[in-house]
Amino acid sequence: MTSGPQDAALRARARQVIPNGMYGHESTRLLPASFPQFFGRAEGAHLWDVDGNRYLDLMCAYGPNLLGYRDHRVEAAAAAQAALGDAMTGPSAVMVELAEALVSMVGHADWAMFCKNGTDATTMAMTVARAQTGRRRVLVASRSYHGAAPWCTPVPAGVVPEERAFITTYAYNDTAGLEAAVAAAGDDLAAVFATPFKHDSFEDQALPDPAYAQRARQLCDETGAMLVIDDVRAGFRLARDSSWSLVGVEPDLSAWGKCIANGHPISALLGSDRCRKGAGAVYVTGSFWFAAVPMAAAIETLRILRESDYLEHTVALGEQLRSGLAAAAAAHGFSVRQTGPVQMPQVLFDGDPDLRVGFAWAAAMVERGVYVHPWHNMFLCAAMTAEDIEAAVAAAGDAFAQVRASLPGLEPHPLIPHVLAGH
Ligand SMILES: *Cc1c(COP(=O)(O)O)cnc(C)c1O
Repeated sequence: MTSGPQDAALRARARQVIPNGMYGHESTRLLPASFPQFFGRAEGAHLWDVDGNRYLDLMCAYGPNLLGYRDHRVEAAAAAQAALGDAMTGPSAVMVELAEALVSMVGHADWAMFCKNGTDATTMAMTVARAQTGRRRVLVASRSYHGAAPWCTPVPAGVVPEERAFITTYAYNDTAGLEAAVAAAGDDLAAVFATPFKHDSFEDQALPDPAYAQRARQLCDETGAMLVIDDVRAGFRLARDSSWSLVGVEPDLSAWGKCIANGHPISALLGSDRCRKGAGAVYVTGSFWFAAVPMAAAIETLRILRESDYLEHTVALGEQLRSGLAAAAAAHGFSVRQTGPVQMPQVLFDGDPDLRVGFAWAAAMVERGVYVHPWHNMFLCAAMTAEDIEAAVAAAGDAFAQVRASLPGLEPHPLIPHVLAGH
């Protein structure tokens, strides 16, 4: 099965005017051939491709959708602000209100700065940490995604080694390895970066070992380095506070983005008074960073997060999905590894080194109107219902049966084995 006629026509036009027809994480280049590239609309837990096919969307725009697409409360707040002004010569009062809301919710935060993308926030965290400490070296967990700037993009094309001259990697959850990397940095250590849990593509996710998280805090205290949590993906999906509040660790800086305005373009860097001086010293800005509409959307999103059971609801749905998928897989003789928090699931198949089984299953799910991903963590949103998950599990059973029947004839994806080899 291939994607529909409208999608195919758009792909052909895109190849003429967009390099490779698409770029970045939303390119379908590394997905099954039948996945649609272009979408027409989205509402609640569902999206429709340009050919009109409807999907229960277990990717949630790769993170920005937390409450449901076009949540009417958030959209009303955005529309009310849009009637007043968005990008103006100076910021609106909503900027102060949003900073107050975030500082009140996130335990470690004494101040907030706003930008557009997660990459802006993580890059700013690095700059602020260096300005605060007067040091250069930054430790990041190998393979952890922190964005697409030269210092952190996972693909080396166009990047010169000098742009990463002071970046050192350590293995996530490896306390001894982190200690060794901190020791090697000596008196030049500006920051230690960590994601809230290990949510790297193509592999099983892992929750943080509390001993590792607590040791990272201690090492930063001992050396005067800044601890940075990259909460761009997981922020507010695990807690109504910084994600490492769950392991009792407060960072000095945290980067936020994706869902904080339920799809409106805004990201944030939050920090403690420990690095307020560095934050005040750097020059960081952007034409759209002060736009008021996404800030109004964020204020309303945060209000809903504080006042609703969105978190408990997505966890309950995640548990339903996890147990349902496990049973459906077992019934058809498959063993799947479901890792990470249930509301941000990664699903990989045992005995599937080049992901051909996972790709076939994902394609069979999309064919049945459930948009899943074969190698990236997925996301649940608060607009999903127990009936949606029940339908997804039923589709999964049929998809497992279809894959079981076609197993001997499965071919690997043309690019994935090369991607995995370089991984
Ligand atoms: C998505 C992501 C980023 C980058 O955010 P963008 O908005 O895509 O620039 C950074 N860190 C993590 C953990 C992410 O998931």
